[in-house]
Amino acid sequence: MANIISGKELSAKLKDELKIKVKEFEETYGRKITLAVILVGENPASQVYVKNKIKSTEYVGMRSLAYYLPENSTEKDVEETVLALAKDVNVDGILVQLPLPKHLDEGKILNLIPAEKDVDGFLAENVGKLVIGEETTVACTPFGVMQMLKSTNIPLSGKNAVVIGRSNIVGKPMALLLLQANCTVTVCHSKTVNLKEICANADVLVAAIGRPEFVTADMVKEGAIVIDVGINRTEKGLVGDVKFYEVEKKASYITPVPGGVGPMTIAMLLENTYLCALRREKNA
Ligand code: NAD
Repeated sequence: MANIISGKELSAKLKDELKIKVKEFEETYGRKITLAVILVGENPASQVYVKNKIKSTEYVGMRSLAYYLPENSTEKDVEETVLALAKDVNVDGILVQLPLPKHLDEGKILNLIPAEKDVDGFLAENVGKLVIGEETTVACTPFGVMQMLKSTNIPLSGKNAVVIGRSNIVGKPMALLLLQANCTVTVCHSKTVNLKEICANADVLVAAIGRPEFVTADMVKEGAIVIDVGINRTEKGLVGDVKFYEVEKKASYITPVPGGVGPMTIAMLLENTYLCALRREKNA
């Protein structure tokens, strides 16, 4: 039976550690770390995410600024909000909650965020730095997965790691981080042939697909570490991309859904905000 890597517990521990670092920052630099969140429209899932992000921001002692813009906002309205925050010296991080309403150009709006305030790690400059191994802001979800892997104390060097999914926000940065940790990395996607065989060879298997219970026990190597990034709303409730009750019998470690990668993503958003604030002060 696999050990459970609880994102709920690990994120709580990391947030408590961060609380101390945030206090030290305030004492050293005489100001509060500030994270600004922009939500456009009334997407119910986004509203919940933003609420949780604000709650956690305040929990660790940071200042939270929230901008709620109506669904019918023009591109200019959103751009002006982002640009004002970009210029504000008291703002350390800017987060535009995605998805934006369809009439808005997501890429154009995100690109107005200065790279040093890009707490999501989505901008080309930050992704590029990750590729060449420079210090940068790393996308929160894969960053959180790395903390979960670290918590097992199992050396990653030389391991076969397979990532299913190649999105810019999860799959690709995940693969780069595993490569940085000296894994031999394979990225699988919707056009991959022999997916089952490739996955069954993985010492570390990360599922970021968005298909409920896609990864079954026959795709998993005995003793593998299995990380389930998926969040799927089904009739059964929230389920991951991994068939948990089957796979937990084979894996050495597994993450649950809910209570796994999800809470880690928020903890890493706060860590990124702290790191952005620190870098800005050091470069000032
Ligand atoms: P996405 O839709 O952008 O990408 C999904 C990827 O899965 C694609 O690269 C695609 O090639 C691959 N894929 C789809 N069908 C496949 C198949 N049959 N075989 C192999 N590969 C296939 O999704 P995303 O944004 O990367 O998110 C993936 C999942 O992770 C979603 O469930 C999302 O809700 C979840 N997610 C969770 C968190 C978190 O904090 N836990 C954060 C981000 C995303």
